[in-house]
Amino acid sequence: MSDPISRREALKSLAVLAGVVVAGAAAREAQAADALPHVAPTDPLAVSLSYVEDASKVDTKKFTTFTPAQRCSTCLRFTGKASDAFGPCVLFAGKVVSTNGWCSVYVKKT
Ligand code: SF4
Repeated sequence: MSDPISRREALKSLAVLAGVVVAGAAAREAQAADALPHVAPTDPLAVSLSYVEDASKVDTKKFTTFTPAQRCSTCLRFTGKASDAFGPCVLFAGKVVSTNGWCSVYVKKT
């Protein structure tokens, strides 16, 4: 009697299953980020960090080292996808920041 599933077929199935699991996790993460509230500019932590939802509105007289390339999507602390409108930042647990936002502790992602 021959083996009902060859080793190659089993490996292919495992690879497909791994892809499905990864895709599912990514979809759940995106859904979870969508469900989170946006950080309000009036949030006490946001105020203390001078967070703005639109980096083009940064007070460049006050923050003289700001450059237009600086925004949450290029910040080291941003853990979301640059292609999304909002995503998580490690400083604001349970909330999401605008990918086009900015705050005074911005650190360029390397
Ligand atoms: S730390 Fe970075 S990602 Fe978080 S709000 Fe500030 S600029 Fe945006």
